[in-house]
Amino acid sequence: MEKQNMAAILGISEPVFQAGERLEQELLPRFLEFDKTAEQNQWKVLYAMQKNRVSESCFQYATGYGYNDDGRDTLERVYADTFHTEAALVRPQITCGTHSLALALSANLRPGDELLSPVGKPYDTLEEVIGIRPSKGSLAEYGITYRQVELKPDGFFDYPAIAQAIREETKLVTIQRSKGYQTRPSYSVAQIGELIAFIKKIKPDVICMVDNCYGEFVETLEPSDVGADMVVGSLIKNPGGGLAPAGGYIAGKKELIENCGYRLTSPGLGLEVGASLGVMQSFYQGFFLAPVVVCSALKGAVFAANLYERLGYPVIPNGRESRHDIIQAVELGTPEGVIAFCQGIQSAAPVDSFVTPVPWAMPGYDSDVIMAAGAFVQGSSIELSADGPIKPPYAVYFQGGLTWPSAKLGILKSLESLVNAGIITPEKLKEL
Ligand SMILES: *Cc1c(COP(=O)(O)O)cnc(C)c1O
Repeated sequence: MEKQNMAAILGISEPVFQAGERLEQELLPRFLEFDKTAEQNQWKVLYAMQKNRVSESCFQYATGYGYNDDGRDTLERVYADTFHTEAALVRPQITCGTHSLALALSANLRPGDELLSPVGKPYDTLEEVIGIRPSKGSLAEYGITYRQVELKPDGFFDYPAIAQAIREETKLVTIQRSKGYQTRPSYSVAQIGELIAFIKKIKPDVICMVDNCYGEFVETLEPSDVGADMVVGSLIKNPGGGLAPAGGYIAGKKELIENCGYRLTSPGLGLEVGASLGVMQSFYQGFFLAPVVVCSALKGAVFAANLYERLGYPVIPNGRESRHDIIQAVELGTPEGVIAFCQGIQSAAPVDSFVTPVPWAMPGYDSDVIMAAGAFVQGSSIELSADGPIKPPYAVYFQGGLTWPSAKLGILKSLESLVNAGIITPEKLKEL
């Protein structure tokens, strides 16, 4: 069957399909750059797997205490070698990215210590972990204080203010690589390296932690290559490659990772226990695929950025900027636009494509939110997904795509949905 016929069967009209084809042609040089990054990262992961002699026995199932769970221990060495760190903790018992971050912080801070964010406000869920918003079990309840240095108006680091904020009590510095759902820029690994060097010059023994969510494998270096003592993330984002059914990781200095082990399980037990419960094959295979999956997501992000930019919508990052994470924001400007976009994304999914998402009052949000997620793994945002708070500037945040063709279909369907809703006119489409 011809590609064009298949597009029609999937609900893509001829003008939308052709606009997509033209844009894809133009973007090929950019896509090749992403392919080259994926190649380097793929070989890095492969080398780590070969070096650690990954074998079929690594996929065996450990239960109970999980003593001598070789598959688990070997995978942790594969992560450590990929991130070029002394050690790593990679476990299904870590429930999500927030949990990984909370674990890394609570394991390495003690009462009287201060946590510093030199990059402004952290990710929403961390506000409760830290106790910026009072919360049961927060670091604040354990006598750990917090300070943050606001970013300059251009979204970059205010070095003099950071120098002033570093004090005797400053034990750990947390740096968020991805902008998440804020409007500041995401930081390159090189920029993070500069920031860490600056901080370490002032206080060499301070622990520098990077929230690496959405950033893994976007560049050929990771923050741990430029001085970060710990990098932290979620396995239902980039490094899980879409196959990990749950989990989180922390990679870094041996002593810090051991502290995380004592906190995750128990003092005295640490990393020795924690059965891998049969998820190891998906962890290995997902990590193996992750560089190419991230590459697909990047192609989708750049394709969407260029498409919507040409239609006159503000997009962050813009169509030409270098990429430091996989998130793409598109400001549609109206509630109807946000809804149509998300419904289009949902209709392109492999799972729940027949479901029509609608805005609802999600706990923890101050406005209704619409979410498109036709995912194999609940909440997985390395899979094609989009969410939009129904409030000005009416932006959608879009990310993921396990394969480039599926990401492309999702974006074309979002456009088709906006055309069908009368938000984008057929004349406008011709300009693409
Ligand atoms: C997703 C994310 C988190 C939290 O991860 P969850 O898995 O949703 O708990 C933290 N920081 C950043 C930058 C993120 O993108």
